[in-house]
Amino acid sequence: MQPFSYVRAVDEARAISAGANRGAQFIAGGTNVVDLLRLELIHPDAVVDITGLPLHDIVAEGKGLKIGALARNSDVAYHPVVVERFPVLSEALLAGASPQLRNMATVGGNLLQRTRCAYFRDGISPCNKRAPGTGCSAREGYTRMHALLGTSAKCIAAYPSDMTTALVALDAIVHTRGPNGTRALPVTELHTLPGEHPELEHVLQPGELITHVELPPTAFAQRSRYVKVRDRASFAFALASAAVALELRDATIRDARIALGGVATKPWRARDAEKLLIGKAPSTAVFRDAADAALAGAQPIGDNAFKVELAKRTIVRALQRAGAP
Ligand code: SF4
Repeated sequence: MQPFSYVRAVDEARAISAGANRGAQFIAGGTNVVDLLRLELIHPDAVVDITGLPLHDIVAEGKGLKIGALARNSDVAYHPVVVERFPVLSEALLAGASPQLRNMATVGGNLLQRTRCAYFRDGISPCNKRAPGTGCSAREGYTRMHALLGTSAKCIAAYPSDMTTALVALDAIVHTRGPNGTRALPVTELHTLPGEHPELEHVLQPGELITHVELPPTAFAQRSRYVKVRDRASFAFALASAAVALELRDATIRDARIALGGVATKPWRARDAEKLLIGKAPSTAVFRDAADAALAGAQPIGDNAFKVELAKRTIVRALQRAGAP
């Protein structure tokens, strides 16, 4: 492992200053970054430990919620306001990783976790994300876990976070503070498509720190559900997942959110599918039409063709649960 210096940040300003240095890497729970260091997939000059910053709180703000970037995944999943008003987030967090990992992993780290593409993680295969310009081994390789949506000729790696998929369905806002001040980003704008540059995964600048995530009050958050399909019941990444939310009035869908995990290169919001639901009475046929629309742009590659139908059925199941009395 390449030697690096260790900096323990004592306040946000010093964390941002240290993080802005070329070759610096923030670390919090370490459940992803320590893996990447051990596998020698990242080679920072400095690791900036931000666990001492006061960003752990989960605070109700009116009918919304402010979640500190350092709040542990377990604390968020079991928070009474999350369970009652934003159930899709609790369900998604509890579907991810293992209890031990959830006790360590933070919200900010979960948002920025890296892909599980086996070719990226083996450290030797050609991989445009790890070593730009070397090629994409997955395109000619085993693609069962790879993406169908948002892919490019350069990369087809699936984005892995269950939590972020739920945050997309809740219209979450990501708040940051960096060398150029503060900003607030819809969670759908945090990550980038691979395009020509799969090595770039988000829009954050060096030293820009996620401070908290805001869940705005919405009429659909309470009727929200997460369904995840995976190879085993625990500690497995999604083959396909759906985070959905419905606002129902007078037996009619007034508003809807559909977000997909396990099948796209970034957290994926299915806006065309949502539009098909508005003004309709909930039914399996209507949900299936929406699911067909959500996967209309899917581009399966080799072994992952089965995920088209799997993702559709996952969406229908999630919508059935959200629409249940
Ligand atoms: Fe690398 Fe992306 Fe190809 Fe995986 S899919 S080998 S991460 S370029």
